[in-house]
Amino acid sequence: MKQELDDALVRDFPNLYADRKSDQSPFYWGFECGDGWEPLLRKLSAEIEAIIVSMPEKERKKYRVKQVKEKFGTLRFYMGIAHDGIRAAIDRAEQESAVTCECCGKPGSSGSVGGWLSVLCDEHRAERQKKKR
Ligand SMILES: [Zn+2]
Repeated sequence: MKQELDDALVRDFPNLYADRKSDQSPFYWGFECGDGWEPLLRKLSAEIEAIIVSMPEKERKKYRVKQVKEKFGTLRFYMGIAHDGIRAAIDRAEQESAVTCECCGKPGSSGSVGGWLSVLCDEHRAERQKKKR
């Protein structure tokens, strides 16, 4: 993901993404997915950040993102611990990623280009296929 989008998410959701610069965390590598998923990540982050902020201060630091990446074409959003409300929000976002172009955020579908599964709109799938040739 573009640096400026990454920076903005980390700035806007400081509890959830507190480990972004920690070299002890796999999240040190940032958001390992395309820019097209930024809106769904932002929506998900807002939901979880609101839950975290409603907790007692000493509880908050348990709820941090460990890793965000694309795997087998869809979003994976890992936290150290989560509870049912957070887990449900993550499930919704991961399902949404399966029909959202990772490049631009338009409706897309999962398919393989050159052996890699990714979710892309028609336009970006055509572009990827052209590059492979
Ligand atoms: Zn696209």
